[in-house]
Amino acid sequence: MQGKRTRSFQDLAAGKVSAPEPRYSVTGHTTPQESVNSEADAKRNNLLASLMSQYLARDVPAIQRQIVGHVEYTLARTRYNFDDFGAYQATALSVRDRLIESWNDTQQFFTERDVKRVYYLSLEFLMGRYLTNALMNVGINSQFAEALQGIGYDMERVADQERDPGLGNGGLGRLAACFMDSLATLNYPAWGYGIRYKYGMFFQKLDPEGHQLEMPDYWLTHGNPWEIERLDVTYPIRFYGHVESTGEGFKWVGGDVVRAVAYDSPIPGYDTYNTLNLRLWSAQPAKEFDLGSFSRGDYYGAVATKEESEKISSVLYPNDSTDGGKELRLKQQFFFVSATLQDALRRFLKHDRPLTELPTKVAIQLNDTHPTIGIVELMRLLMDGHGLGWTAAWETVRKVFSYTNHTVLPEALEKWSVGLMEKLLPRHMQIIYEINRRHLATIASKYPGDGAKMQRMSIIEDGYPKMVRMANLAVVGSHTVNGVAAIHSGLVATRLFPDFAAEGYRILNMTNGVTPRRWVQQANPALSDIISRWIETDEWVSNFELARGLESYVNNADLQREFADAKKANKERLAAVIKSTCGIEVSPDALFDIQIKRIHEYKRQLLNILGVIARYNSLKRMSPEERAKQVPRVVIFGGKAAAAYTQAKHIIRLINGVGKVVNNDGDIGDLLKVVFMANYCVSLAEVIIPANDISEHISTAGMEASGTSNMKFVMNGGLIIGTMDGANIEIREETEKDGEEHMFVFGLLTPEVDGAREALKFGEQKVSDGRLEEAIKQISSNMYCGPETSGPIASALQPYNDYYLVTRDFSSYMDAQDRVDASYKDQTEWIKKCILSVARMGKFSSDRTIREYAEKIWDVEQTPFTPGSISYKDPASAKANGK
Ligand SMILES: *Cc1c(COP(=O)(O)O)cnc(C)c1O
Repeated sequence: MQGKRTRSFQDLAAGKVSAPEPRYSVTGHTTPQESVNSEADAKRNNLLASLMSQYLARDVPAIQRQIVGHVEYTLARTRYNFDDFGAYQATALSVRDRLIESWNDTQQFFTERDVKRVYYLSLEFLMGRYLTNALMNVGINSQFAEALQGIGYDMERVADQERDPGLGNGGLGRLAACFMDSLATLNYPAWGYGIRYKYGMFFQKLDPEGHQLEMPDYWLTHGNPWEIERLDVTYPIRFYGHVESTGEGFKWVGGDVVRAVAYDSPIPGYDTYNTLNLRLWSAQPAKEFDLGSFSRGDYYGAVATKEESEKISSVLYPNDSTDGGKELRLKQQFFFVSATLQDALRRFLKHDRPLTELPTKVAIQLNDTHPTIGIVELMRLLMDGHGLGWTAAWETVRKVFSYTNHTVLPEALEKWSVGLMEKLLPRHMQIIYEINRRHLATIASKYPGDGAKMQRMSIIEDGYPKMVRMANLAVVGSHTVNGVAAIHSGLVATRLFPDFAAEGYRILNMTNGVTPRRWVQQANPALSDIISRWIETDEWVSNFELARGLESYVNNADLQREFADAKKANKERLAAVIKSTCGIEVSPDALFDIQIKRIHEYKRQLLNILGVIARYNSLKRMSPEERAKQVPRVVIFGGKAAAAYTQAKHIIRLINGVGKVVNNDGDIGDLLKVVFMANYCVSLAEVIIPANDISEHISTAGMEASGTSNMKFVMNGGLIIGTMDGANIEIREETEKDGEEHMFVFGLLTPEVDGAREALKFGEQKVSDGRLEEAIKQISSNMYCGPETSGPIASALQPYNDYYLVTRDFSSYMDAQDRVDASYKDQTEWIKKCILSVARMGKFSSDRTIREYAEKIWDVEQTPFTPGSISYKDPASAKANGK
């Protein structure tokens, strides 16, 4: 049973309304006095309005006509013969047509209402596939499935043709994608801005031994039907050059200029007409060719300049390992930020009003420090471009920007050498110096003589070379800073920016969330159906708090059985994928234990695999009778290691080495399997996560800012084994009541970590666990992999090297795993825990997160667009609407 959706749009979609919805009130088009000059104009406008006065029809025959129309007219293929990929392209284009309608109207509506907009700036957007998401959000999935069926195509196979756009590394990029979905669903006037990388995340393969191989993933090979190239929306972006004094101020001149070209993808909200825009910039030469080179007869030189410009948006950098010093990366940052700000200012200036009012119409969120140079660029645009004085410009800028911090690890804080900044962005360096001079003057007047404080708070770090600290710049130039989970925000205030906190800089917590649309409704239809039936509405999809309704049925045997059946089906689905991609047979009756995330030492996949080795050894020692009593396990890993991160790559190799030994041991059979699934990405996550019994979120305490896959896993009806870190802490707080154990917690707490590290390093604390010693001994004897891998792994496990405290937390981890096994044996109790956990995850919907940002940081209003509510007073000028 599907609960009733709220808007007539959905009734229409469900075929309950026969006529297509009117787009706007026809009477609104002819108000001659206001904007229409002549009778001829009025006539023309009336005609234009009537031509498309209704949205595209949503009945099956109409959809079939649209799909086949695209096959013939857009793809130029014959309708009698096109393959699944052709069907995907034509289907995507038919869906896109619909999105464009509501998107144009949404933007026009925002413009007419003159609303404040939020701009979410992120160097990464890990969107996942669009097709299913768009169909489900718009509510036309079943019509399209039926339409395709009718012309001989299977929706699942068609949807499977889509390539994941891998324009992000991991959690930070996926957060941006979940936020776009929530912003659209909650009707906030928002834009996403980023870079359209030609090459996103690499495609991961494994060689026969189990080493990671990186292949370039040219995701645009077969085109991207979701994007709209806007060759008319372009901005010049300057690099290098020098600063000239103009008498009144300064001007940045010379150097190289490239062109940023906009590529737009519509982002539909769920159960709303509102459709937002994700605008990604691509770099092109400012002039197609350098005429100077031509006249010198240097044809190849001229073309090379073009190639050089395009390099800027060519490849996504791995931000998961220290990657600093890449000039191209700083170029990317400035490139997308400058284009975005020029775009935002142009939109603001369509209305005639002073730029000091910018903060009433524009809020800009910096997703990590990557877009921080925007603070300086806006200063430059306001002062050098529009003649504002320093004070007015600075006050305006600080009211516009806010900054999200994603890490407290000092080595991960972004810095750029003053020399590079000066060379690449000379005017910006000048402005940074002035920001810093004024900032430090305030501090000095308050704390005369406190040089240490000045040094800590300075935007420029003294040393050889001098560095620009982007985090300090982001704090000084923003009105609000936020962390992404309660513990993390606490550390941001107390460890990272204590001096700023003491000065009253606003530091808030905005606990991350994930969208229940993609991560439950789409990824897990079986569970979605159960939730909707038991709580008698599907409104949980846009209000996950409603899932709490399950709690009252937790003891109902029917619910428990349905829940178990759905889980089993999801595990069978995953087992089939494992069989076909890894060639490993796993039993869906085993406990599925999953750790999928970037491979990083702090995330401690090494602790997991050491635990697997210990489990294997313990099973080997058991008698057959004893073995028969054990809970069988499938341990599943997935994740990419940054190409330059050698130790992370050793860990992948070790996991695969252990898998080879364990999976081929006849004594062990189904009792233990180890699987590494290659090329972890959003689409793979959607298949893996619903199949989890437990998932591992086992970072060294204090090192994971939030984590978001922990939320996805629990929403999909599994339990967590984890440390008291990031959002784990809040998930536990929400899901456990009086004495329940819904999270298998182990390990040191954040305040204990520093001391433990010191103690290990200086040999003051001997860690002794026979299982650990045995595992390390086996690794050292090259039982699982060759010395080139086992050497560095064993070395990292020496107490004085064990920065991530793998050995220190090992015993506690094994105890927690024992509790997992014991709990799992009582299936009824286990399922009850899982049901209660799902029911209590309302807080971790990104809808809750976005509401908090909107209310506490951006001050933007929900602005639902309904057809008929825009006037298009002058349709001829509508081309220039909000876009
Ligand atoms: C959710 C997600 C992540 C983040 O995972 P964490 O375990 O929180 O680090 C990374 N990659 C993809 C593809 C995701 O969907």
